[in-house]
Amino acid sequence: MNHKLPKLPYEKDALKPYISEETIDFHYGKHHQAYVDKLNGLIPGTQFEDAGLEAIIKNADGGIFNNGAQVWNHSFYFSSFSPEGRREPSGELSDAINGTFGSFEKFREEFNKSAATLFGSGWAWLVKNKDGKLSIVQKSNAGNPLRDGLTPLLTCDVWEHAYYIDYRNKRPDYLKSFWEIIDWDIIASRY
Ligand code: MN
Repeated sequence: MNHKLPKLPYEKDALKPYISEETIDFHYGKHHQAYVDKLNGLIPGTQFEDAGLEAIIKNADGGIFNNGAQVWNHSFYFSSFSPEGRREPSGELSDAINGTFGSFEKFREEFNKSAATLFGSGWAWLVKNKDGKLSIVQKSNAGNPLRDGLTPLLTCDVWEHAYYIDYRNKRPDYLKSFWEIIDWDIIASRY
């Protein structure tokens, strides 16, 4: 199987001023593309030659896992945003967030704390378990909660390459902007 870089569901400059076109050019155009290219270079002749990304995330190790998970994680991340969208959860997901964390504000605080305290490179996730219960998990490097049988709902990329052009070393400033571009109708569709 030849994995492909998915098209962005918005223009490259659509997330300004929160994420610049230059960041999209590098983060999507170079980093995300590189994970796709490396994965395609690694799988021929292996048991993962015809595997989908979820099977790779659940079963592969080493470079195939790292690059396959990074392809999936970035596609999931970039498809969580829209220039105009619902900026707060509604309906059942809102009820679940309020029930688990107390309020949307409290949830954001906990998620930000998880993203801010993740040492080094990785991803903060809002996930749902088999019983529908929500939680926030940190994953280092290419980590993905699908490997633990959890359903990802929302993720924040805290690799420096996600924010260094726009925010330099200021991860908290990037996290503040993150909430301005999340489209909660998209997150709800994953719940
Ligand atoms: Mn990234």
